[in-house]
Amino acid sequence: MGKKEILEKFSADPDRYYKVKLFDEKGFERKSCATCHRYFWTVDEKRTNCPDHSDDTYSFIGNPPTKKRFDYTQAWKEVESFFVKNGHTSVNRYPVVCRWRDDLYFTIASIVDFQRVMGSKVVFEFPANPLVVPQTCLRFKDLENVGVTGKHFSSFCMIGQHSIPNDHGYWKDKCVDLDYRLVTEQFGIDKNEVVFVEDVWEGGGSFGSSLEFFVKGLELGNAVFTEFQGDLSSYKTLDQKIIDMGAGLERFAWITMGTPTAYDCCFGPITSNLIQQTGIDANSELLVRYFTEIAKNLERFGDLSEVRKTAIKSAGISEEQIKKIITPLEGIYMIVDHVRTLIFAISDGALPSNVGGGYNLRIMLRRIISTMDRLGLKFDMNEIIDTQIDYLKKTYPELEKTRNDVKTIIEIESGRYENSKERMQKIVSKLKQKPTVDDLIRLYESDGVTPDYLKEMKVISEIPSTFYTKLSELHQSKKVEKQEHLPLEGLPETELLYYENDPREFDAKVLKSFDKYVVLDRTSFYARGGGQEPDHGKIAGFDVVDVNKHGNIIVHELKGGIPKEGTTVSCVVDSKRRDGVTKHHTSTHILNSSSRSVLGSWVWQHSAFKEEDHARLDITHHSALTDEEVAKIEEVANAKVKENIPVTIQNFDRGTAEQKYGFRIYQGGIVPVKSVRIVSIGDFDIEACGGTHVKSTKDVNLIKITRTKRIQDGVVRLEFVAGKAAQEYIEKYEAELKKASSEQAAKEQRDKLREERKEKAREKIPTILEQILQAGEGRVDEIVVSGGRFYSTTDDQYDEYFHINFGERLVKDNPWAVYCGIFEEKGTVRAIIHAGEEVSKAKKAGDIAKAVSQILGGSGGGNPRFAQGGGPDKSKKDDAINKAKSMVLE
Ligand SMILES: [Zn+2]
Ligand SMILES: [Zn+2]
Repeated sequence: MGKKEILEKFSADPDRYYKVKLFDEKGFERKSCATCHRYFWTVDEKRTNCPDHSDDTYSFIGNPPTKKRFDYTQAWKEVESFFVKNGHTSVNRYPVVCRWRDDLYFTIASIVDFQRVMGSKVVFEFPANPLVVPQTCLRFKDLENVGVTGKHFSSFCMIGQHSIPNDHGYWKDKCVDLDYRLVTEQFGIDKNEVVFVEDVWEGGGSFGSSLEFFVKGLELGNAVFTEFQGDLSSYKTLDQKIIDMGAGLERFAWITMGTPTAYDCCFGPITSNLIQQTGIDANSELLVRYFTEIAKNLERFGDLSEVRKTAIKSAGISEEQIKKIITPLEGIYMIVDHVRTLIFAISDGALPSNVGGGYNLRIMLRRIISTMDRLGLKFDMNEIIDTQIDYLKKTYPELEKTRNDVKTIIEIESGRYENSKERMQKIVSKLKQKPTVDDLIRLYESDGVTPDYLKEMKVISEIPSTFYTKLSELHQSKKVEKQEHLPLEGLPETELLYYENDPREFDAKVLKSFDKYVVLDRTSFYARGGGQEPDHGKIAGFDVVDVNKHGNIIVHELKGGIPKEGTTVSCVVDSKRRDGVTKHHTSTHILNSSSRSVLGSWVWQHSAFKEEDHARLDITHHSALTDEEVAKIEEVANAKVKENIPVTIQNFDRGTAEQKYGFRIYQGGIVPVKSVRIVSIGDFDIEACGGTHVKSTKDVNLIKITRTKRIQDGVVRLEFVAGKAAQEYIEKYEAELKKASSEQAAKEQRDKLREERKEKAREKIPTILEQILQAGEGRVDEIVVSGGRFYSTTDDQYDEYFHINFGERLVKDNPWAVYCGIFEEKGTVRAIIHAGEEVSKAKKAGDIAKAVSQILGGSGGGNPRFAQGGGPDKSKKDDAINKAKSMVLE
C-alpha cells in the first residue's frame, strides 16, 4: 500500500476526510493545482496553483507577510502562549537521545516523545491532553543540504501539537481551527495567504489523512490525523485516534523575519557575529535574490548542485561573489547548525564515536573543522558554544547545566581529529581514482576519513548527495536481539515470588517439563535479566543451572533430570549465590552514579553484568580512565556505602515515572511494560530496574574496582567486586603486598650488607696491597697469589670499583704482575684484567680477557695493560681463572 493510493482514495471523498468546519465557516474553496493537480483549500479566489507552483513561492524573503518580527526564541513564546491560552499544557522537550525507544538513537519527531513500543505494538502515553511541546529533533539524512538551501537543519524544533480525541482532547475540526488561528491571529498573517494541501500519512501499520499548511510557498506545519490501522484492503479505525501536528519553529521565525535564510534568524547573534568576523559584506539584496532562487528551485529539482547552478545564473551572481560571499556563508550557516545539534546531543548524553548514533555526531564535528580549515575561518569554538547556549537557554534552560561538558567533549574530539590528520593524509595520497559513494562510506567507516576532508584536500569537489542518506541509513536504528523459541503456548504467566516476600525455599507446581526445561506456576528463582545472572539451586533435587524469561513465563534449565508435569516440587534457591549477585547489582547502581558525578554528565550505563563474585559495568565515556579517576570513583562509591542509604523500590505508571524522574531512569535500557519498577538509592541514584537489591547501601559492605579498560570507542568497562568478594580481594591484595614488601625489605637488607662489605673491601685496598706484595704464594683476604705473579679472586665481596683500583695499584707496584678479578654483576660474570708494564710485553691483558671470556660463554678484549670481558656461564668462573693463570705462568 503506497501513499499515492491512499491519497487517491481520501481525495475522492473530501467531505469525509478533509473538509473541516473551518473551511465552511471561512469560505475555503477546494481547488486542484493547475500544474500538478494536487488538491488544496484556499479563500483566495485568484489562486490557481498549489504552494509549490505558485508565483508567490518564497516571496516572503525580503518581504515578510507579518507586521511583527519574531526570532526563534520569540516565535516559540508566541506559539506556546497561543496554545496554552487555548487549553493546552506546555510540556518540556524530551531528550534528543531517544532512551525510551529501542529502534531509534535520536528523537526524530515530536510524536516520538509519546510513543512506547510494547512487543510489536506502538502505544501512546501523553503526560497531558491536549499538549504542545518544543521538541528538538535530529535528522541526519540531508546533511549536505544544511547551510546551502537556507532551510535545512541537522536539528530543528518541531512544534508538536498533540491531542487524543476524548473528554479533554479534540479531533480534526478543532485542530485545523487552532492552526489557522495561530497563523492568522497570533502571527497576523492575512487569511488569503494560508493554503491547506491535502495529503496522507502512513507508518508503523497505521495511516490517516493530513492537511499541510503553507504561507507564501513555505510549509509551516502538517496536521496528521492518525485514524486507521491496517492497509487499504483491510483496515479498521484505531481505538486511540491521534492528532499529530508538527510544525517547524524555525519556519515560523523565518516567515516573520523574511531574512535571506532561516539560519539568519534562528541561532541568535552568533550568525551575524561570525559573518562580521569574516568581513563579508552581507549585501542583502544579492542574498535575497540568491536564496529566493535556491528555495524555489529546490521544489523543482532534486539535485542540489543543479539547484545551485540555476540559482547562481538567475540571481546573476559572479564567480567572484560565489567565492567571496556565498561559499563562506554556507560554511558559517553549516557550522552554527552543526554546533547547535552537538550542544543538544552532548547535553543529552550522546558522545561522538565510531559506533551507533555517535557516528553522526563525529562526522558533524569533523565537517565543522574541515570547513573552517578549507575556508581559512578562525573561529573560537568555545565562543560559538557559549553564545548559542546563552541564546538557547531562554527556551531550554536545562542546557546551562551541561555547558562545560559540551565544551569538554568537543575539545577532546577536535583534538582527536587533529591527531588523525597525518594518517588520513597518507590514506588520501594513496587514492588512485575519484572515490565512489561506496568508497566514501568505506573510507569513513574504516579510516575515519570524512568526505569534507576529501573536499578540503581537493580530492572531490562536491559531496555526493546520497552519501549522508546512505550513512545515516546504516546507522539509524539499533538491532533487536531474538530469543530462542520454546513450546510454551497456552501457559499462564509465572508468579514471581522474588518480587514479593522472596522465599529461598518454596513449593511449586510443575506446569510443563520437557527436554531439560521446567516451567512452574510460581518461582523465586531470579531469571537472567538486566545484566543480572540467574539464580541457581535445586528443583525436586535436580540442579538448576540456568533460568530465563520468555515473555512472562520463567523457564528453569535443570541438570540430571526433570520432574514430572503436574507434580508439586520443593525448590531451594542458592542463597549464598543470590546474595552475592544482589550485592553486585546494587553496587552497579552506586558505581554508575559515582562515575557520572566524577567524570561528567555524559556517563550512562552502556551495559552491565552481575555475577556472584564479580561484576562489570560498561559506561559511556570518551577516554580510558586514569588511576586518579578510578580512585575517585571508588572513593565516592564507598562513601555512599558508608552513608548507609536505604534502597527503596516503588512501582509507578511509566508516564508518571518519566515525568517524576526524567529519562535518567532508563540506564538499563527501555522498559516495555506499563508499570515501571523504580529502584532508588536516596536521590543519589534512581533507575528503572527489575533486579534484586540490598535493603541499604551498607549491606554492600565494600566496592573495589579491580580493572578498567576502554572496550570500544566511547565505552569504558569497570570490572569490580563487592561485599565478601571485595573483602577477599582486598585481603588477597594486601597479603600479596605484604609478601612483596617483605621480599622487598629482605632484598634491601641484602643490598645494604653487600654495600657495606664492598665499602669495607675498598677501605682494605692499601692494607691488602701491602700484605700481598710480600707473598709469593698463598692468599690474602680471598685474593690468591700464584707464582709471585698471578693475582686472582672470585670473591663476591669485591666489586668493579675494587678490581679496577686494586689491580691498577698492584701492577703499578709490581710490573711483572697480572691481576684477574672475576665477579658477578646483574646476572652475568665479568672479568677485569690488569697487566704490569713488563709482563704485558709478552702476556697481553687483551688476550687474557678474550680467552677468559670465551670460557665464560661471552666475549672480551682491551689493550695490553688493561682489558675487560665476561659471559653468562657462572659455573665456569674457576675454569676461567685457571686459564688466565696458565697463560701468565706458562
Ligand atoms: Zn502544484
Ligand atoms: Zn539495576
